[in-house]
Amino acid sequence: MNASSAWLFGTVAIEGADRFPHALRRLKEAFPGIDWRPGPVRGLPGVRLVAEPGLVEGAFKIALDEGPRVTVSGGRTSGVIYGVEELIRRGAGAAGRLALDRLPTEDAPGLPYRIWWTWDHSTNWELSQVGVQEIGVFNPYGKPPGGFLADYKRLVDFCSRNRIPAVTIFGFLRDSHGGIPAAQELCRYGAERGVRILPGIAIGAYGGVYWEGDHKYNLATWLKKNPQFSAKMEKGVGFQLADLDFPLNFPASDYTVRACPSAPETMEWMEEAVSWLAETFEIGGINIESGDYGVCGCDRCVARRANEAEAARRVDDHGDSWSHSDMAADFPRLYRAANAKRDDLWIVCEMQWDNLLDPVASEVQKKLPKGAIYQHTANRSFWQRLRTELTPEYVAGLPTEPNIFRCQFACQWNGDDRTERYFFNARTFADMAEVAAKVGFEGLTVWGEPSPYQATVELSYLASWADGRGRTASSPSPARSTPIATGPRSAASSSAPRRSPRRSAGPARPRGAG
Ligand SMILES: [Zn+2]
Repeated sequence: MNASSAWLFGTVAIEGADRFPHALRRLKEAFPGIDWRPGPVRGLPGVRLVAEPGLVEGAFKIALDEGPRVTVSGGRTSGVIYGVEELIRRGAGAAGRLALDRLPTEDAPGLPYRIWWTWDHSTNWELSQVGVQEIGVFNPYGKPPGGFLADYKRLVDFCSRNRIPAVTIFGFLRDSHGGIPAAQELCRYGAERGVRILPGIAIGAYGGVYWEGDHKYNLATWLKKNPQFSAKMEKGVGFQLADLDFPLNFPASDYTVRACPSAPETMEWMEEAVSWLAETFEIGGINIESGDYGVCGCDRCVARRANEAEAARRVDDHGDSWSHSDMAADFPRLYRAANAKRDDLWIVCEMQWDNLLDPVASEVQKKLPKGAIYQHTANRSFWQRLRTELTPEYVAGLPTEPNIFRCQFACQWNGDDRTERYFFNARTFADMAEVAAKVGFEGLTVWGEPSPYQATVELSYLASWADGRGRTASSPSPARSTPIATGPRSAASSSAPRRSPRRSAGPARPRGAG
């Protein structure tokens, strides 16, 4: 190859753009001076986009052959997208030329499950809108109807570029922000960009599957027609957090109702709703919890649980406000219902907070299916215990697998009267990712509600996964390329900061990988 072959310029074929339209979109944005021609590369200069079944989700390889021809192979859509973003980072510098002298390269995620957690009402990425809120779980939506897509499309764009493969959304379905069509559009938007949309739902709580609106899978709507299935709450609605300096307030409303999970009709209705969710939307998974604002205390529920240790943890105001026994009984049914409709979902089971080291329901938790993703949440004080007391041996003995952490601090839910959403939380996120990798957890969920408009927030997001095996952030921005006179392989060995993937074989059992 001569010097000019270390670039792509002029007319460049791009193969696979029909399957990965967002990859073509990004290349056109980054290199508007190149005449991108979708179609077979054959012997022409070009880029080939290939889903490679042998790569784990999010992993990619960029190869360079004579032509010059670049092949971006990725594990699922996210792998192809991350590979193209890397190609852009390494090859950028001129609108009309894509430099190839920093290729080939490859990378693979350390922690496979890197998830953001959000509520619709307090996710603020389009900051010119009215109606911004910053905390709460039973909130009306205050923005204009288009606000949901305006916020979440920006969020998805960021995730796609920065290797965050999934976002949980509570309030996914709400009449006042576009209902079903808006939710469908967001799922398509995310899928094209390699970002899994995970609706957050609760079992007979938090609105069921349709958070707010006149819909048959909305909990308040259903309970008004079927009041006999309402829960008889064990105590008042809500929860309090010992790591938060002020009391939370949960005024009764349609948002706060709850169904009794011991009524067979409740679980039949939930199964039907989850099936509908999985077939109606191009979701990437579901985040399922049992509801964290109190449990049904009817005779049937108490007898079914038969777990005094678990009940004892609910007595204190700062104690548990859920039932692991309920979760173990009900989650497997919803897991099966969703998987019957789609075979590539990340189905997250929320294990609630601050109890990983104090199990009260291990026996029933053995019923929880392998292959779901078990999310253990920590507030700040409990995290200080976890990071020193949790060991690989303990994790290996858990009834659940795979396991991930969820951070409930470094956000609005812990601390004093100041919100911590905009703090520099990078060290916390990196610490959690490192501990996760050390003890055998396979992921981390952090809050993704504030936009990276604040530099502290942006840095926290970018550093979230930046240490240990949690690292997925891309290489440092390469220096601007200069044309080279040697072939691409020798160029790569001499100048490209090639990184060997830490876990080239990937995690043991990534859902939907390959
Ligand atoms: Zn009950």
